[in-house]
Amino acid sequence: MLDRCVGHRRLRQIQRACRHGTVTFLCLFLTVVVLRGTSNNYATFDISKILVDEEGGDEKRDPNAPYTLGPKISDWDEQRAEWLKNNPDYPNFIGPNKPRVLLVTGSSPKPCENPVGDHYLLKSIKNKIDYCRLHGIEIFYNMALLDAEMAGFWAKLPLIRKLLLSHPEIEFLWWMDSDAMFTDMAFEVPWERYKDHNFVMHGWNEMVYDDKNWIGLNTGSFLLRNSQWALDILDAWAPMGPKGKIRDDAGKILTRELKGRPVFEADDQSAMVYLLAKHRDTWGEKVYLENAYYLHGYWGILVDRYEEMLENYHPGLGDHRWPLVTHFVGCKPCGKFGDYPVERCLRQMDRAYNFGDNQILQMYGFTHKSLASRKVKRVRNESSNPLEVKDDLGLLHPSFKAIKLPTSS
Ligand code: UDP
Ligand code: MN
Repeated sequence: MLDRCVGHRRLRQIQRACRHGTVTFLCLFLTVVVLRGTSNNYATFDISKILVDEEGGDEKRDPNAPYTLGPKISDWDEQRAEWLKNNPDYPNFIGPNKPRVLLVTGSSPKPCENPVGDHYLLKSIKNKIDYCRLHGIEIFYNMALLDAEMAGFWAKLPLIRKLLLSHPEIEFLWWMDSDAMFTDMAFEVPWERYKDHNFVMHGWNEMVYDDKNWIGLNTGSFLLRNSQWALDILDAWAPMGPKGKIRDDAGKILTRELKGRPVFEADDQSAMVYLLAKHRDTWGEKVYLENAYYLHGYWGILVDRYEEMLENYHPGLGDHRWPLVTHFVGCKPCGKFGDYPVERCLRQMDRAYNFGDNQILQMYGFTHKSLASRKVKRVRNESSNPLEVKDDLGLLHPSFKAIKLPTSS
């Protein structure tokens, strides 16, 4: 019928057009299907799609056996001394009174709850890289949970032990929390002061040994000498760490025994206060509780005073006049909930970051427009004699960074 109406040739033309149209339509359909699966839009991409963690496979420990950080070692000082003797190219001191130091920090293997937390982790590691480069300190960033039982604030213990044993050339390991930032880029740790000590934390003897106050010291920034003594105190420190019943029960003991401690699972800081207060005879002699400068400084009492410091003082002091470290205790920028309003924490973290960063930028002739600003401005004109320009703080070539080559005699 149709054949008669439109003619034979015309019908063939229509049929061909239809087939062509079908192919085009199929192509379009497939393109849509494929595009639905892949997207070029980072802003809306759901990261959980690619973060698949295999379930199971974790080594299970006998729950009745006491927790240990590793095989018992009791002759580390001898083993290490032998190694240092055989490896003179890796001395544990890189200058007179200048120990080889490894700064260790880290964060969870997972992205932060809010991506902005990862941005602050980036700022914080950039800040530490700056300080370490200036002071000739090596740096290690850890994101691996080496021991599933020691998750969270306890993760540093197995990590520290592993690093001490793998790097006998390191004299001091400097642990620093990811939420702590250097705010004095010029202050050099008075290493000589600690020549007879193995463990340096910010704190006060009376608050730890007399009051057993849970904030008598802080474990967010400390120095630990590579030694048998260090392995021993790590072993004595660890038993409250394993998560679950052990950590929960230990938390109850710590809250009961320590002054001012809220109710929560055992944390590494309380455990250290408890250990020192209970066994001062064993450990006290080699522990230096430092409060002459801020090896750790609580952000709550420092950040609002930065303008006053800028007005009256200068970098290099490290104490209340210009704090070495500003630590955002309780802010938990990478987690879900902190102890303080998020906006306050992030605003103050920016101020601390910029305060420290200005000391870096001044070397190159720049400064942040304000402590609240990401933008920078020029503070001196470009010169055609760049090597004659002196940076105000002398941080381009500071004496504490200079490497003293051993004199061959
Ligand atoms: N941390 C880690 N891995 C984790 C969780 C935490 O290495 O999975 C580190 C991180 O550097 C963090 C520190 O443990 O800064 C201690 O936790 P936090 O600073 O949140 O405790 P606070 O100082 O607020 O008591
Ligand atoms: Mn912290």
